[in-house]
Amino acid sequence: MNYNLKAPYINFNSTVDVKGKIAALVFLQECNLKCPYCYNKPLQQINPHLENFSISKIEKLITSNKGLHSIVLFSGGEPTLNDDLLKFIRRFKYKSKINPIGLQTNGTTDNLTEIIQEKLVEYIHLDYKADCLLNNQQKEIRHKNISLLLQSEIEFIFSVTAINQEEANFLIKQLHGELNDNNIEVKTQIIK
Ligand code: SF4
Repeated sequence: MNYNLKAPYINFNSTVDVKGKIAALVFLQECNLKCPYCYNKPLQQINPHLENFSISKIEKLITSNKGLHSIVLFSGGEPTLNDDLLKFIRRFKYKSKINPIGLQTNGTTDNLTEIIQEKLVEYIHLDYKADCLLNNQQKEIRHKNISLLLQSEIEFIFSVTAINQEEANFLIKQLHGELNDNNIEVKTQIIK
């Protein structure tokens, strides 16, 4: 069976996204948030004119560039919105034996819950942000995902993205409350 990912770009040698690793970064279109400071605005919406890569094409690209990278990282946009992502990762992991696999996510989707519960990835970077854009349901899902992630064996990193120090302080305090642990490192990015 073939799946398509709304993934128009792949960067095979990102050195800044996972500490100590070179990542093959697969960018997926579409995001459920519309942060005004978004670093990937063209990926917020689905652009019907961009090519979607089939799983076989991405697999071929990843395997033929093996050795250039030590982790495959799905980013975006919000990668977990892509309905085929779970099937995609399952095939990567169990059939093609491509691993480790990681995700950069805003944490607010049910698909992420499934990914954590199934331990489909080895690494998750959860970027905690844009509180004022989230509805209550998204906040609840994010909270549940944070709790599940803490109990899982998945390697994780938390970051906060904010427009100024005041918002960053608010988000860090709130996130530490959700983590129930002030000692977990939270990286901060302030968008100027
Ligand atoms: S969550 Fe990330 S990708 Fe989505 S709009 Fe905000 S900054 Fe952009």
